[in-house]
Parts: sequence; structure tokens; C-alpha cells
Amino acid sequence: MPLQPRLDPNTAAANMAELEPAYTAQQARVEANRCLFCFDAPCITACPTGIDVPAFIKKISSDNLTGAARTILEANVLGGSCARVCPTKELCEGACVLMDRDEQPIKIGRLQRHATDHVFDNKIEVLKPAPARSGQRVALIGSGPASLGCAAELVQMGHEAVVFEKKPQAGGLNTYGIAYYKLTPQVSLEEIGMIQNLGVEFRCGVEVGKDISMDELLESYDAVFLGPGLGQARSLDIPGEDLPEVLEALQFIEQFHTDPLHQVPVGRHVVVIGAGNTAIDAVTQAKRLGAETATIVYRRSEASMPAYDFEYDLAKKDACEFVFNAAPVEILASAGAVSGIRLIRTQVDSQGQLSRIEGSEFELPCDMVLKASGQMKQTALLQKLLPDLILDSGGRIQIDPTNGRTSHPKVYAGGDAANGGREVVNAVAEGKKAAWGIHLSFTGETRQGPIQPSRLGVIGSPIGSGFDQPVRVRELEAAYHTNQTGK
Ligand SMILES: Cc1cc2nc3c(=O)[nH]c(=O)nc-3n(C[C@H](O)[C@H](O)[C@H](O)COP(=O)(O)OP(=O)(O)OC[C@H]3O[C@@H](n4cnc5c(N)ncnc54)[C@H](O)[C@@H]3O)c2cc1C
Ligand code: SF4
Repeated sequence: MPLQPRLDPNTAAANMAELEPAYTAQQARVEANRCLFCFDAPCITACPTGIDVPAFIKKISSDNLTGAARTILEANVLGGSCARVCPTKELCEGACVLMDRDEQPIKIGRLQRHATDHVFDNKIEVLKPAPARSGQRVALIGSGPASLGCAAELVQMGHEAVVFEKKPQAGGLNTYGIAYYKLTPQVSLEEIGMIQNLGVEFRCGVEVGKDISMDELLESYDAVFLGPGLGQARSLDIPGEDLPEVLEALQFIEQFHTDPLHQVPVGRHVVVIGAGNTAIDAVTQAKRLGAETATIVYRRSEASMPAYDFEYDLAKKDACEFVFNAAPVEILASAGAVSGIRLIRTQVDSQGQLSRIEGSEFELPCDMVLKASGQMKQTALLQKLLPDLILDSGGRIQIDPTNGRTSHPKVYAGGDAANGGREVVNAVAEGKKAAWGIHLSFTGETRQGPIQPSRLGVIGSPIGSGFDQPVRVRELEAAYHTNQTGK
């Protein structure tokens, strides 16, 4: 029997409701007043977009929510969605000095959301396009966080930005892929509206390489930004993979970002292959949409799981199940539909080599299988668009880390296609950095940018937002010292 939706509209909506509701004004004020407003705050340097965290928190504490939102959005145009989706415990909150005093870190993400919600709810435009236009035009391929970060920065510097997106809506994974209980497509589309009001033009439903060629873009525009993200999920290469109830995790997740939650078909017993953050999102959402059991199958041990601990904890709280040290061998069918999965036990030797244990096969009954063992790179697309483009050995677009320029002098890149798959905030930061690279190529200036805000005021330092590793405060101090003393 084909898969069915399992929940009524109210239950589906309640199960998928936001995990972290908004602060009240009073809660936000109390939390903001816990901040020490550190002089050279490590939370700033831990943010890939370099948001001046103490500055915006100070503004919240004095009820200047519009000013707080301006501080956030000037550094990170997707500050509203990043407030919801960033792994803050790994970034800004993970660097908060209050942890050294055995206190809870400041809830930076929730405060950031409080400020950005204020301007979106009240339709206050805090960002302004440049008053004068440069006449330079940039085409951006894909409308995910990388292109959005790049396009918004370009129009604020006076350039024209035209975004080509193959899907019907803009936003990339922010609109179609992030866990629903963290970020709804509506919030992502509100951000797109703000970026559109800034002057960025979106051409959705246009696939570059099919509806328009790369040569046309290179002829008609002064620069091109590549932000196509990653490709399809890796194939399992096992019998039964083509059964109708075997889906890529992202295909499943995309369904309830485009159709009403209660209309999305879900298995009674769902197996998810993989143990990264996408696998956790898939297993948790399958459970929340009515699966009786939802089980992660991972070929390595619990300790080797790539998912963040807080994501793993959430799946455990949702009563998801886990089978470690097991690999899929075959997806089983009965009357043409998935009826189970055959697995084999695995072991890892002292060199870290994984092997299968002969004769250890076992079966797990299920009626839906979701593939989440990593997304492939967009190698075929990139080679078709630009046959001479240099990719690294991992299939990522090779870029100059200081300005996002690729091996083609007119083409820049950022986001998952260049970094291999990281977070929304990294994609925004890389887009912003490429916008500066493009701007400097237009103006002939040599200054590097953007510079990470710092109370130490390191002017002209090449270290800063969007660089591959967050900048540690001691590096800023060293640069400051060199600036002051010349040594
Ligand atoms: C399931 C899942 C959950 C995630 N959850 C989180 C999270 O909670 N927090 C977090 O910070 N990060 C999360 N991430 C990672 C984050 O979503 C990505 O790092 C980020 O979206 C990358 O942005 P991007 O712009 O590089 O690519 P994408 O967001 O993938 O956008 C690329 C866009 O390019 C378009 N495109 C591709 N080819 C063409 C073409 N030829 N012509 C026109 N358009 C094209 C695509 O349709 C897409 O819209 C998650 C990722 C996944 C897969
Ligand atoms: S590190 Fe913590 S206490 Fe210091 S400014 Fe940042 S949020 Fe406030």
C-alpha cells in the first residue's frame, strides 16, 4: 500500500512547532542585562559574519530593538534565520566568557531573534541600498544563503545583483531544507522580501546551464557568483534502492516545506541511513509526522557520529532509535513496496578501517527508507558550466580564501559548493566576502574586506569575517600589537 499521511492538521502543526519560542520583552531585557559587554568579546570573533554581539545586546537592554537589528543585519543579512538555525553552542554562545564562571552562556541566538523579529513584524527597513549606482552588474547562480549574502552586500555597495534560481522560490535550503521546528519557509521568504526591497532582482524558475547558458551570463554581466550548493544524496548502491518508498532525506524534508504538514506521506516504520545532522533532521521529523518507529542506521559507532551532540539529544528525546555498527546490504520488498532492510554488522580495526563481519546479517522491518549518508558535490554541473574551472580533490570549487575568486578571473564562489557543506552562517560570510572581492575588482582598490568588527579596531587586517576558521581573540590582540608597535 502506498505511504499515507499519518496526522490531523492540528497534531502535525503542534508536533512541528518551533522548539525555541520567542522571548517576551521582559525575558529579553533580563537576559540582555546578564551580558558583561566584554571589551574584545570572543562571541564576535566566534561568529563567521562577525556580528558585534555586545553592541546589539546593549541596544536590547536599552529597548533600542531597531538599532539592535541594524547592528545584526548590517553584518549578516540573514541574521533572522541564523538566530534560529545557527549551532550557537558551537559558535558565539560556545565562546561566551560566562562559561568560564560556570554560568550559562548568554542566549545570543534568542536575543538576536528578538531584535530581528521586531523589524520584520513591524516592517521596518533597516538596510538601505547605496544612493548611487555603479553601473556594474553581477549575476548570481542559486539563491541560497551564499548568494543572498553576496547579493545583499553588492547592492549596498551600489552594484546591480541578479539572482538566478532553478526552484520556484528563492532561499535555497533556508526555504526548502532546514528542520521545520527551527525555521519555517515563511521566515526565510520574509528575509527574501527584505533583500528584494534592497534592490536585488530574483529570477526564479531559471536553471543556469539549461534555461540560460554560462556564456550568456559571462557576456552580459561584469562578474558571476557561483552558489549552487551541493547535489543529490550519495547512492547506497544496494538492491531495492529504486523502490518508491526509498527517498533522499532532503526530498522527504522538501515535501513538508512545500505541501501542508498533514498531507505528507510517512512510513509507519522509517529507517534513515546515515548519522549526520541531515539524518537527525530526517529521523526526528519523520517521528514528529507520525512514524511509529524512526531508526537511524549508522555503519560506525555512536562516538563517531558526525551529528552535533545537541541534535543527537533531540532525536533521543523524540524517542528515535539507533542501530550503530551496521551497514545496509539490501532493501527488501513485498508486493513491490518496501518491507524491510537487510543489514550487516561492521567493525573498525585499530587503524580506523571499517569492515563487515561475515555471517552477521540481520533484518529490520520498515516501510520507508531515507538516504542521508552525505550529499554529492555539483561536479557535473560545474564542469558543464565552466569546463576549465579548477576544483580541489574533494570536488569543491577552489577559491582564493581572501576574496572568493575562482580560477576564472570573472567568477567568484562561496557556500556549500566551495566549502563542501557547512552552516548557513558560513555561506552568508563567504558570499559577503566574495561581494567584497567583486567590488574591489571593479574599483581597483587593494584593501581586503570585510574586516571583522573588534573593539581593538584592527584596521586593514586581513583576518576577519568569513574566513575559514573563526578568528580567536589572541590573533586579534597580536595584530593589534603589531599595528601599534610595528613589530
Ligand atoms: C537537511 C539539512 C539541514 C540543515 N540544517 C542546518 C541548520 O540547522 N543550521 C545551519 O546553519 N545549517 C544547516 N544546514 C546547512 C545549510 O543549509 C547550508 O550550509 C546552506 O544552505 C548553504 O548555502 P548555499 O547558498 O551554499 O547552498 P543552498 O542553500 O543549497 O542553495 C543553493 C541554491 O542553488 C540553486 N541552484 C543549484 N543549481 C542551480 C542552477 N544550475 N541554476 C539555478 N539555481 C541553481 C538550488 O536550487 C538552491 O536553491 C542544513 C543542510 C541540510 C541539507
Ligand atoms: S562573551 Fe558573553 S558576556 Fe561577553 S559580550 Fe559576548 S555574550 Fe556578552
